[in-house]
Amino acid sequence: MLRIVVYLVTAAFLLFPSPQAAVAQTGQERKAIKLDAGAYDAYVGQYELSPDFVITVRREGNGLSIQATGQPKIEVFAESETKFFLTAVDAQITFVKNEKGEVTHLILHQNGADQNAKRIISTSTAPPAGQSAGSTPGGVRSPVEVTVPIEPTPFKGDGKTHLAYELHLANFDSSAMTLTRLEVSGGDGKPLAKYEGEELKARLGRQSVQPVAYLWLTFDKPSAVPAVLHHSLTARSNAGAGQNDRPEIKIKDLEIKVRTGKQLVLSPPLRGDGWLAGNGPSNTSGHRRALIAAGGAEHIAQRFAIDWVQLREDGKTWVGDQLKNESYRAHGAEALAVADGTVVAVKDGIPENIPGATSRAVPITMETVGGNHVILDLGQGRYAFYAHLQPGSLRVKLGDKVKRGRVLGLVGNSGNSTEPHLHFHVSNKNSPLSSEGLPYVFDSFEVQGKGWGWKPSGKDSPVEKRTLEIPMQDSVVRLAVP
Ligand SMILES: [Zn+2]
Repeated sequence: MLRIVVYLVTAAFLLFPSPQAAVAQTGQERKAIKLDAGAYDAYVGQYELSPDFVITVRREGNGLSIQATGQPKIEVFAESETKFFLTAVDAQITFVKNEKGEVTHLILHQNGADQNAKRIISTSTAPPAGQSAGSTPGGVRSPVEVTVPIEPTPFKGDGKTHLAYELHLANFDSSAMTLTRLEVSGGDGKPLAKYEGEELKARLGRQSVQPVAYLWLTFDKPSAVPAVLHHSLTARSNAGAGQNDRPEIKIKDLEIKVRTGKQLVLSPPLRGDGWLAGNGPSNTSGHRRALIAAGGAEHIAQRFAIDWVQLREDGKTWVGDQLKNESYRAHGAEALAVADGTVVAVKDGIPENIPGATSRAVPITMETVGGNHVILDLGQGRYAFYAHLQPGSLRVKLGDKVKRGRVLGLVGNSGNSTEPHLHFHVSNKNSPLSSEGLPYVFDSFEVQGKGWGWKPSGKDSPVEKRTLEIPMQDSVVRLAVP
């Protein structure tokens, strides 16, 4: 109801970022050679140059292509068994193997600099060790490519630890296939999840073209989260008659790493009681599924976004005239800096909407979708986005350094919003939608209840104190800023 809807945009493509001006040069004359098919297969996967800049290497008909985060796919040509070159820009790639012959990283040579990118995902085409060839006729087929926009980072909510991430599937086989089973296990082979039938369907988006599997794994304790996740995908070809009699074939084995490191601890962006975490973290919320194509790649910036509305004693968000923004409890609440940071984007001057599902004061575009907003750079590739603020209410300007708890602006109903609320999320770039949403936790908050329409049962309604957690979808919480 309050979610930011999906917009398709075309942005100017960039080439690989370079410290100098990116001038495409032809460089020296290079000759392409042809390698055996198996040699190309060995390099397929994802390579991380930095946490938010990943190079995806894919198998194409005649060789390989590479695609960097937010950039178009580029064909690369082999000049030796391990060295490839680009023609679109003057850059080369060397794949590096360990003594066992496994590809561990690549080196990007560009503008006179060499940058290492470690392999974070390999899409092996070989059956896993110990698997007999007979168990999957033809072994593991490889025409299906699987990419992971961002590996999962564990976060805590409702007392448990969660991993939320997606697999993007693309079928390059001559016939269509139906995914029939998806199994996830830990690095030690311990099964974690198995989805088939309706369970699988519920986790798939866009089933006809390039399906996306939305995964959400829950663990009782942080220590139960494995360091790597192994995925086994099984499908059945749709070609020909009697397709249900066709054997299932294993189409992909995929291993991905779980991100480790310190979790992002923030103080809440609001204070007071009765705050409902609308469209908050869950595997089915509008934010979770808001896959947006922007800048040549698809992103879910809103993966862990929350639309904060404030409930009254009667369980409603408003009193009096429902068509007036002033009638809503959230309207005019102070949006607060969740940590020390620098203001790296501001937008003001967008009038507020009349509350209602379809009444927008301005046409909704990439420019106006978030309404009046502020983006705070929290450091280490984390950006906090505050959307839908009141026009003229911004208390900060571009470049301001702010301390945690500082008032940034007032909650309003501008942009793609149906009633006064604060849309808040954290992502990995200074871009509200062309970025990947990252999990965060609040130092503390109190859970008062759950769900739209929730009413306190009395003056001393019991509350549950939570520390270092994110409020989950539809939790009603009391937020305090230290
Ligand atoms: Zn939202």
